[in-house]
Amino acid sequence: MFRALVLDTAQDGKTVVPQFKDLSLDDLPEGDVLVRVAHSTLNYKDGMILNGLGRLVRKYPHVPGVDFAGEVVESADVRYKPGDRVILTGWRVGENHWGGYAQMARVQADWLVPLPDGLDTAQAMAIGTAGFTAMLAVMALEEQGVLPDQDGEVLVSGAAGGVGSVAISILAHLGYRVVASTGRPENADYLKHLGASDIIDRATLAEAPNRPLLSERWLGAVDSVGSTTLAHMLAEMKYHGVVAACGLAGGADLPATVIPFLLRGVKLIGIDSVLCPYEKRVCAWQRLVTDLPAERLDEAMQTVKLSDIVPYGEKILKGAVRGRLVVDVAAG
Ligand code: NAP
Repeated sequence: MFRALVLDTAQDGKTVVPQFKDLSLDDLPEGDVLVRVAHSTLNYKDGMILNGLGRLVRKYPHVPGVDFAGEVVESADVRYKPGDRVILTGWRVGENHWGGYAQMARVQADWLVPLPDGLDTAQAMAIGTAGFTAMLAVMALEEQGVLPDQDGEVLVSGAAGGVGSVAISILAHLGYRVVASTGRPENADYLKHLGASDIIDRATLAEAPNRPLLSERWLGAVDSVGSTTLAHMLAEMKYHGVVAACGLAGGADLPATVIPFLLRGVKLIGIDSVLCPYEKRVCAWQRLVTDLPAERLDEAMQTVKLSDIVPYGEKILKGAVRGRLVVDVAAG
């Protein structure tokens, strides 16, 4: 038997009720690798799922937990053997497949990556989907020729969020000059400590641009916000500037013109962490070992036991969780 957080619907068929249960391996869904989960984390999406929002989960009972890290117990796939330490992020695990808020998980081998040397399972979950996405965004900037020795600044929006704060730490470590855009000025010292050389108020980017092109400002950008903020930064990119679009914290629309693409050769690169191919995943996790300073990660991390996770689901939806919350699943 093992401990799990199980969500089920109440008698009204709508309200989602969390309950801790002892399950057996027979309860787990099909898959070719059985993992003993050591740590998970709390993403915004986990908060939505814990509160039954967004119709992300279509089938109950359900075990949430979008990301997890742990040790292989059994494997029908030659790539993994008992004792191997693995990470899972994405693939809609925790949404339409049972996830990491249980001490055991059964998943497809294709969804796993080996835990890289240099990270433990708690650190991997302090990174989680948010940090992994930030790394993919930085890699996209590099692939498109935005490099630290160039003259100019890289803008990071949604700076105090999970993706934004890891992106700042990585970019600064690599030697980029980073400008952080935040709506929470009280976090200015924190963002500077992560490596931002300058802070701007997110309100200055929030207005749709009043002309198709504004003064050239940014060599590159990592955007978590979308909507008018993304439209505004596109209009402010330098010639051949590159934007890595990661998120939609400000809205899913994009009220922009094509002029920055046509007259400045600006590139808009989409970042997807969920279905990212295996080779790129492995590469990104290796890069997180070398390019994300461990001390920044340790500072941003707080740990809660699985049995204490439920109230944090509401807190993250209210923006009341700072840094990265790691869930100690093994502790129950
Ligand atoms: P998060 O921790 O909630 O951070 C989002 C940040 O955006 C907030 O901290 C805030 O930063 C800013 N923000 C919030 N509401 C805003 C608004 N209305 N207008 C402007 N800025 C606003 O979330 P996250 O984990 O970093 O994820 C960021 C985004 O990326 C989300 O939209 C998420 O869905 C998406 N995401 C995408 C992928 C992918 O595969 N592409 C993976 C993970 C996440 P400040 O307080 O500093 O302003």
